[in-house]
Amino acid sequence: MKRLLAALAAAILLAVQPAHAQSILRDAETEKLLNDMSAPLITAAGLRPRDVRIVLVNDDSINAFVAGGQMVFVHTGTLQAATSANEVQGVIAHELGHIAGGHVPLAGGAMKEATGITLLSLLIGVAAIAAGGGEAGAGVMAAGQQAAMGRYLAFSRAQEASTDAAGAKYLSAAGITGKGYLSFFKKMQQLEYRYGITRKVEFLLDHPVSSERIANLTETMEKDPAWAHAPNADLESRFKRVQAKLDGYLLPPAQALQKYPESDQSLRAHYARAYAYHRSGYPDKADAEGAALLRAQPDDPYFQEIVGQILLEAGKPKAALAPLKAATDGSRSDPLIATTYGHALIATEDPSHYDEARRILRIAVARDDQNPFAWQQLGTIYELTGDDARAALATAERASMTGDPRTAVARARYAMAGIPKNTADWIRAQDIAMTAQDLVDKDKKKKK
Ligand SMILES: [Zn+2]
Repeated sequence: MKRLLAALAAAILLAVQPAHAQSILRDAETEKLLNDMSAPLITAAGLRPRDVRIVLVNDDSINAFVAGGQMVFVHTGTLQAATSANEVQGVIAHELGHIAGGHVPLAGGAMKEATGITLLSLLIGVAAIAAGGGEAGAGVMAAGQQAAMGRYLAFSRAQEASTDAAGAKYLSAAGITGKGYLSFFKKMQQLEYRYGITRKVEFLLDHPVSSERIANLTETMEKDPAWAHAPNADLESRFKRVQAKLDGYLLPPAQALQKYPESDQSLRAHYARAYAYHRSGYPDKADAEGAALLRAQPDDPYFQEIVGQILLEAGKPKAALAPLKAATDGSRSDPLIATTYGHALIATEDPSHYDEARRILRIAVARDDQNPFAWQQLGTIYELTGDDARAALATAERASMTGDPRTAVARARYAMAGIPKNTADWIRAQDIAMTAQDLVDKDKKKKK
């Protein structure tokens, strides 16, 4: 079973991984933080927080961009280079300005042609974790074939100037100080002076930071009442924690361990070292760091999550169950955490856990239906429990999201034949069959 899961994961990764795969990083704690940091800015921009997605791109260069629709892409390198959450809020406010200013094509055909990017094509792929494997970082997903993210949208000077002003306006309306916005721009300018434009600071290609831009922003923001507001202390401390966690996940382990030496007994350092030790093959040390986190804050769902994830990836799914259940409950069934818990339940290969796995994975896909890995796990549990029709439905969901309408039609029709008519699952299968059939027909017309 373990081998089967690993083989499945490998097969899917191979199928979708383009030559220069850019990947997105999905992490419950980081996504929640970015959402909380952005929500007041999104509202100030006249948009709805639930319509806008902040997507974290696993890339150590400094960049943020919009690519059509209401999606803001932020490189992990931007979070690592920022001194504060407030700086990242400045970057996000600016990008929202491009969306609200209509500088990006709306969702749909025009957008797809302009950028080749849709969120769904980005979400293709699976977390490269297979119980017992543990060779790859969990939560890092391969990006889709179509996600040629090198093709950013370019904006004119006039658009940049109006977007700078829009960003300042949203910060002001949200009562958030513009000091971070300004200091991040200044940081970019210094990097440019020092190194010129390099891959590490791609942000500059899109946003050449001139002294004029900085002067204009300074003038607007310094006289704004929000300028004097202190940054939100809760967001700032969560941001420091997330930075340490990302260091543990993403830096070469030796470098992470150098940045957070054993002598550093802060929670952040324990957090960074837990995953860094796990990645460098010191399971006992990784467990000890996890234990230190839980001693300090036993009810923290994200500490429970990392402890469980490390155990799962170390091939100990049974031991991972208790912390992952605590993490799932503590995060009120965050879909990403629930998916990891469901994966662990399946990986125990103990049929007495299958009902719980099915229950929790159904909750996960109900909350976030754009996670192909969750659909894959749900399909696996249906298969294991002999529910071929719903296994087919899960495959249809995954196929429709990964741009394979033919498979989606076939599996959705198979599902409809085996699921009681007019139930929620049957109606969902019918929807997929019709939508996917439409795509197949359009594709046929194009080829004529
Ligand atoms: Zn811009």
